Amino acid sequence: MTDAYVGLGSNLGDRLANLRRALDAIGGLDETRVISVSNAVESEPWGVTDQPPFANAVARIATAIPADRLLGLLEDIEAALGRVPGERYGPRLIDLDVLLYGDDEWDTPELTVPHPRLADRDFAVSPLLEIAPHAEWPDGSPVTRDRATQGRITSGLGPVPGYEDVTPPPGGWTGPQRFGADFAGWEEIASRRFAVGVGTSFAMDLLFDAAVLEQEGIPIGWDPMPPQLEYSPWALPRTYRLLVPPTMAARARELLADVHAAQPVLDEPPEPDSDGA
Ligand code: ADP
Ligand code: MG
Repeated sequence: MTDAYVGLGSNLGDRLANLRRALDAIGGLDETRVISVSNAVESEPWGVTDQPPFANAVARIATAIPADRLLGLLEDIEAALGRVPGERYGPRLIDLDVLLYGDDEWDTPELTVPHPRLADRDFAVSPLLEIAPHAEWPDGSPVTRDRATQGRITSGLGPVPGYEDVTPPPGGWTGPQRFGADFAGWEEIASRRFAVGVGTSFAMDLLFDAAVLEQEGIPIGWDPMPPQLEYSPWALPRTYRLLVPPTMAARARELLADVHAAQPVLDEPPEPDSDGA
């Protein structure tokens, strides 16, 4: 069995239901299991920009089907779900891409693996990193968001219905990845609109608040992502929201009020030493 990552996208009809039906069909392939699924995200259309926003997710699968045959089967699933051949990069009921397939590299007219646009697409690389924070290219170098300037994620859509059990919870399975998740019921503690690289002090405010909460063991969620994970080569602004579980909200607000009240004092010049010369 090989670990592979499949990118899913839909911008027609009930988008999350389309993602679900595609995952059901992938899990139904011979010798193939769906291991985990990212939270779904909404992203800006790119290429052909005059079309509805996409819902995207990335699934990790274990499969014994070779990559070229897998792509053929994914195309069969696209057709079975009702994708009609149309404009390249145009609206589609379902789009299924082979993003990574173990350490395999393919370069044929029909199939390129790793997917040639994976690194450029926020909607592919960010969900991939949510379920595989240590994902690597076949040469062993880490997959990063550094080049992902296309198809920017605009909000989180939560788990694909039916796949909640294999989707990371808002706090993430591990480590610092916690964004784009379904924070339904969570309370907003702080929010700022800014462009990374331009409003850096706003980013520092939010990161400071997050650090205080984290130090106190309060789970935090970011919608749509932590500002330090943002790339923003064009310095486009977006709103970053910091959220906590409802049971933690009162304590979180109190804590932040305390540290914010204490901060200006730290900025004042120190009192002269009373017993000094
Ligand atoms: P995109 O997925 O880049 O938005 P389309 O789905 O319209 O674009 O085009 C897919 C074409 O790309 C198909 O003809 C397919 O043969 C080819 N292709 C090459 N490599 C891959 C891959 N790794 N995954 C999916 N399609 C691929
Ligand atoms: Mg495709």
